[in-house]
Amino acid sequence: MAARSSALGDTWSALVDLVLPADCAGCAGAAGHRRGLCDACAAAIAAAKPQRVRPQPEPPGLPRCVALAAYAGSLREAILAYKERGRHPLAGPLGDRLADVVAAALGAVPGPVLLVPVPATAAAARDRYGDHMLRLARRAARELSRRGWPAGVACPLRARPRPDSVELSSADRLRAAESAFVLLPGRLPAVRAAVRRGVRLVVVDDVVTTGATLAAAAARLREAELDAQVAAVLAATQRRVSAR
Ligand SMILES: [Zn+2]
Repeated sequence: MAARSSALGDTWSALVDLVLPADCAGCAGAAGHRRGLCDACAAAIAAAKPQRVRPQPEPPGLPRCVALAAYAGSLREAILAYKERGRHPLAGPLGDRLADVVAAALGAVPGPVLLVPVPATAAAARDRYGDHMLRLARRAARELSRRGWPAGVACPLRARPRPDSVELSSADRLRAAESAFVLLPGRLPAVRAAVRRGVRLVVVDDVVTTGATLAAAAARLREAELDAQVAAVLAATQRRVSAR
């Protein structure tokens, strides 16, 4: 009976965590507000200014890449909590900031845009209760539309199952990144029709490190004659944030 009530207690506290996360996802500090961030972390994430990033070396075919901020501090913690610990309400504040990055990357003039999220592998989507970038992209598209940038989400790519990267040399890892995605032919006509109408394509992802993943996604799109002019990401690993 004791074991049973403790199991019930665990279930209850898990439910309470889902509804009212106890800790701020950004700093693990005092009670987060409704979306899981304390005021200080929400303010830090809101204050970040999108900036151009250039991984060194820059992989061939990488679209012009803009990130909200360095992958550090409360932004890093919030991304990890959203992605790895199932804190889905963080799609709100993070998706809204991704919309800022897309707008900054495309320049001041609003215009129609299609976001192409870097797809999760089937295994990752299972582990994370859904495709976390698809959810973020949808939120960002809603926010862009609200601001007068007609925006949608297109998913013309599928992720291949990923080899276990622990076993791979860096050359193998690069080759694996290059072949990480395949085109979904059935999705292409609608995307092509949008592009012919002047809709701009933006590849979106959470974190850029070497840029190999974004370059591979853009390369597959280019094979389908779809040109993603820019990539928008939430965070860039710190030493690769360019001052210019
Ligand atoms: Zn905090």
